[in-house]
Amino acid sequence: MQQTPLMLSAILTHAAMAHGDREIVSRLVDEPLWRYDYAGLARRAGQAASMLHRLGVRAGDMVSSLAWNTHRHFELFFAVPGIGAVLHTANPRLSDEQIIYTLNHAGSGVLLFDRNFLALVERLRPKLERIHTFIMLSDAQRTEPGTVGALSYETLIADAPPLTDWPQFDENAGAILCYTSGTTGHPKGVLYSHRSIVLHAMAAGLSGAFGFSAFDCIMPCSSLYHGTAWGVPFTAAINGCKFVLPCDKMDGASLQELIQNEGVTFSGGVPTIWTMYLDYLERTGEDAGKLERLVIGGSAVPRVMAQKFQTRYGVSVRQLWGMTETSPLGVVATPTPKLEALGQAAADEVIWTRQGRLQFGIELKIVDESGRELPHDGVSSGNLLVRGPWTVERYFRSETSALDADGWFNTGDIATLDANGFMRITDRSKDVIKSGGEWISSIDIENIAVGCPGVRIAAVVGVTHPKWEERPVLIIEPHDGVEICATTVLGHLEPHIVKWWIPDAVIIDTVPLTATGKIDKKRLRDRYRSYLLDLETGETSAASL
Ligand code: ADP
Repeated sequence: MQQTPLMLSAILTHAAMAHGDREIVSRLVDEPLWRYDYAGLARRAGQAASMLHRLGVRAGDMVSSLAWNTHRHFELFFAVPGIGAVLHTANPRLSDEQIIYTLNHAGSGVLLFDRNFLALVERLRPKLERIHTFIMLSDAQRTEPGTVGALSYETLIADAPPLTDWPQFDENAGAILCYTSGTTGHPKGVLYSHRSIVLHAMAAGLSGAFGFSAFDCIMPCSSLYHGTAWGVPFTAAINGCKFVLPCDKMDGASLQELIQNEGVTFSGGVPTIWTMYLDYLERTGEDAGKLERLVIGGSAVPRVMAQKFQTRYGVSVRQLWGMTETSPLGVVATPTPKLEALGQAAADEVIWTRQGRLQFGIELKIVDESGRELPHDGVSSGNLLVRGPWTVERYFRSETSALDADGWFNTGDIATLDANGFMRITDRSKDVIKSGGEWISSIDIENIAVGCPGVRIAAVVGVTHPKWEERPVLIIEPHDGVEICATTVLGHLEPHIVKWWIPDAVIIDTVPLTATGKIDKKRLRDRYRSYLLDLETGETSAASL
């Protein structure tokens, strides 16, 4: 059989040839809605590739973006890897220090950014070690050079001849670099290869996963900078779907405008976005247009959300579990004949409460503390390990493998697996909080909080929040005989951490320890799980706030 390398440029060339006139629509920062098609995408991505080449970008070089879900960012998904360079999609939700770290660690020489990141880029610039060229993803008249001397993307590509003869090289070459900030310490880079992205995109389109067809109109509401928006852009291009990009406007009214006007049939994103959309529908009494399917993941999908979408709006919710380290497709909750035979109510119950079912291309297993594999009985829960061609092998620039001796990656999640191949997350062994789809490091906050005079132990746990899924609360045990108040602790934290990391509550309490003297996070999580919800309903005294 032929040894054709799996290249991202092949997706672009195929899209232009097989469904070149299928439409792509993009919102932009301060510009009118943009419309073109896959043939236009191929032409402009080719121009962007030539432009980057002119600027001196070569195979193996790194190029960074700080950009929203727009057609220009989508063009970079092909232009940069297409010439053998790597696109690092920097995450603007990280703290300044973390963004600086990722840009320096990636080692990019060129940064392309959206207009509303100019102030951020100017602020970061003195600490950026390698970046020599700044390009604003904007047209000529709206480009502001700022103190970084930004060039206009549109001006630069206007006279660049479109590259059509994309080079062929090793399919294992790096294509897109994405950093995850799950745990304490610096963010860690996961470098997706051409091969891993193509295989992932083909698998994600299958009917047991996203199930895309040429009739679909797809709008990704997970960020292009976070795990390539779950690979959706590539899967849409392979399948000839109409593609709609919402820029940074993820509020209910803005999403509804695109869903209604463009005929969106499929979308996906973290639960927080869909909570806002549901609120919008309920407030206005409008319907969800042609929307048929939503893939929601990144955090657990509340059962009531899936149920409301299905029963009130006829939209079926498929939960997805995945990680930056798994590109991110892990499992997706889609129906099977066996489930349907149990009757609609029973099938819905499984689909609404499980993270998803096994997909071809990614193996899952659960093990106990000693590494012994546990049965798929839906009850035994253990550490969730994964393995497969789009799972990380080692972090970017790391000398050591991230896998165990048998090639399994430990996800830091605790899960059950059942006989029908459905996985359910029951807990998390990694000490982090996920708020609105982005990580907050409990350990980082604790380290700062213990520096506050009078604090003996500081423990941060994630508790349920109606909008953000999880928010941090800080439990403080003061030194004996010391009176400490929440305001003092918050005042101590504020200068050191980004605003959205500030805990929603500071509780003065004793902190339980495990037998080995570690903070017993599980007991704290159980104790305070509904603390913020109870605060809202007045069932918790606000005295601790
Ligand atoms: P992503 O943003 O693609 O979810 P991250 O690497 O930021 O990737 O986060 C991955 C982690 O998020 C998982 O290990 C898990 O803890 C959590 N997660 C993802 N999807 C779900 C889900 N459906 N239910 C519960 N937790 C989830």
